[in-house]
Amino acid sequence: MLNISELRVAYGPITAVDQASMHVGPGEIVALIGANGAGKSSLLRGVTGLVPTSGAVQFDGRDISSTTAPERVAMGIAMAPEGRQVFTDQTVYENLLLGGYLIRKHTRQLESNIERSFDLFPRLRERSGQLAGTLSGGEQQMLAIARALMSDPRMLILDEPSLGLAPLIARDIFRTLVALRKQGMTILLVEQMALQALGISDRAYVLENGRIVLEGTGTSLRHNPRISEAYLGGSHAAHEHGVTEHP
Ligand code: ATP
Repeated sequence: MLNISELRVAYGPITAVDQASMHVGPGEIVALIGANGAGKSSLLRGVTGLVPTSGAVQFDGRDISSTTAPERVAMGIAMAPEGRQVFTDQTVYENLLLGGYLIRKHTRQLESNIERSFDLFPRLRERSGQLAGTLSGGEQQMLAIARALMSDPRMLILDEPSLGLAPLIARDIFRTLVALRKQGMTILLVEQMALQALGISDRAYVLENGRIVLEGTGTSLRHNPRISEAYLGGSHAAHEHGVTEHP
């Protein structure tokens, strides 16, 4: 469904993504993991059209490299960005309406998509009239995902959905992603919680200094010594033993 080849993203003299090639098949959850500053967000921005790129981005076999971000949303690519970026001074309902901007003239579809969001996240139904800025972090993440789904995407892109969330809340978010895949959604996921991300992913890529250095199934990467040392290390062992790390 998504095919990236030799993608490069640069900010002036800084190359954030260098010659990255990867693909995401229909119905897959694919994770992109890597350390801070590895270029994960930049790669996602390249896919969604938020930054200029060189190399090729294909969606459904069509080269979309020169299309704008809104055009890519219309084609079926939607992103829940890092830090959620909900509209804090708008209600939950209004945020969802904004997510459905592309279908704004189709009132019935808009209403049914909002209903679908509320079925997926009943908490949002309860808080429909509440200002998004007053939601908890987990609720804001639910809203960011629900807002992205409002445009009826075929591919959902998530940038660090677990960021700043308590482990139990993050687990619920990961469960929702699995439920979405069951409904046929294709998902590209950037995550710092590598163990959890690999646990729900069909395949994953590892990015280091802007380059993809490893690729494999979620299971194989979970058991790859290089990965467990670099990304799962202490916290993996700590989770297994129910230990919380302290600085
Ligand atoms: P994190 O996990 O910390 O979010 P990341 O893997 O998503 O990191 P990016 O945010 O893509 O990494 O950053 C990759 C590199 O590009 C970093 O060196 C960063 O400083 C640089 N960078 C990112 N955005 C910009 C920008 N707008 N202008 C200049 N440099 C940038």
